[in-house]
Amino acid sequence: MENVAESTIEIPSKGSDFVRKYLTGIFLIIGLIVLSVFWGFSYRSNTLIREQLLKQAQAFFEEVVITREWAAKHGGVYVKIRPDTVVNQYLLKIPGLKVVITDEDGIAYTLKNPALITRELSELATTKDVLRFRITSLTPLNPTNSPDPFEQTALNSFNQGSKEYFTFETNDAQVYFRYMAPLITTKPCLKCHEQQGYKEGDIRGGISVSLPATDVLKQINENRYYIVLIAFAIVVLIFAIIRYISRVFIGDLNRAEQHLREMASRDYLTSLLNRREAFRRIQEERERAKRAETPISFLLFDIDHFKRLNDTYGHDAGDAVLKQLAIKLLEALRDYDIVCRYGGEEFLIVSPDTDLEQAFKLAERLRVTIAETNINAALQDISITVSIGVTQLQAEESIEAVISRADAALYQAKNGGRNRVIALGAP
Ligand code: GH3
Ligand code: MG
Ligand code: MG
Repeated sequence: MENVAESTIEIPSKGSDFVRKYLTGIFLIIGLIVLSVFWGFSYRSNTLIREQLLKQAQAFFEEVVITREWAAKHGGVYVKIRPDTVVNQYLLKIPGLKVVITDEDGIAYTLKNPALITRELSELATTKDVLRFRITSLTPLNPTNSPDPFEQTALNSFNQGSKEYFTFETNDAQVYFRYMAPLITTKPCLKCHEQQGYKEGDIRGGISVSLPATDVLKQINENRYYIVLIAFAIVVLIFAIIRYISRVFIGDLNRAEQHLREMASRDYLTSLLNRREAFRRIQEERERAKRAETPISFLLFDIDHFKRLNDTYGHDAGDAVLKQLAIKLLEALRDYDIVCRYGGEEFLIVSPDTDLEQAFKLAERLRVTIAETNINAALQDISITVSIGVTQLQAEESIEAVISRADAALYQAKNGGRNRVIALGAP
């Protein structure tokens, strides 16, 4: 009798779990990369659009400054007086300045200084609804040029050394990009502004530019929406691909695992349970029997004179006999009987819900059937007989002990002349 305690080879059970975890990790990493790339993309495009607005405002500011410089360089310009022409009341206060002149034909002209030119251009711009700009200062000569809250903050920041100031502002559900930069007093400016106490280089006020930004911001939001949508679609696509791959992969892995498990639990020649798996099931069966208080019997088979059979018909024929005997045993037994190839030509049958008497009858029936059946192996009809030792598992008895008793019964059957069943009751 071989030792029943076998070393156990554990097959790592959840290969599919490992793959799932692994692929989930990959998915999370790819998803994160895609999302951060798209976030960077969205951030960059928003910044570019904002920079564009700023550049536009700066360019416009420069244009106004250049126009003013040109006018200042020429000491202002005279324009024909029409019914709607405004004569600058503030210029009239400056001594020696000819605010109104008349040519030889009697046509009157009035002097437009840079401040007035700027204001009139700004009023003209208001009618176009493209952009607005205005000149203002913390100490305006003309009260209509008083700064609004944004301009006030900007002008204060210029006094603190800022070169420009900008922000978005919402007004009547419209968003505006508001920009302001300081007006620095140059030499030509002093002609009019010296009397206010300004020196060259002083900040005299500023020009604020206001660009409609509702559409641009709408575009930024739309942009962001599409970027999020595309990123989401890509992540979903990657998820679907990874899921598909993992399904296929896990399917293959499960099949391979199942195959391995089968291989690890079955005898390669007869496909019956091997000892290891049989012992596992016997333990389970024993627990169940304990709860249900039902008997379990053990039948240990050994083919008679198998060595002789091998010698007579050859080893392959011997193998074929073993295979066919296994098939016959499975056919003759119930699904829940445990049928195991116990050794070379030894088989163990563990029969639940079966007491010693029933087990003896079962063994006898099997013995007679086997003896009466010709097994066709290697093109020959071979008849075999078996000896069977039968016993019933006792409460609190070890599996080793009950098998040892079955083995003792088998030994008696062999000694008694073979082709027989011996049943041994409780010791
Ligand atoms: P006994 O009636 O006393 O059981 O005689 P026996 O010849 O069957 O007994 P023994 O245990 O001496 O011989 C068993 C033989 O079974 C020895 C071995 O060659 C053969 N055998 C064991 N495993 C296999 C197998 O997988 N295939 C084949 N063909 N023969 C096997
Ligand atoms: Mg033997
Ligand atoms: Mg034998």
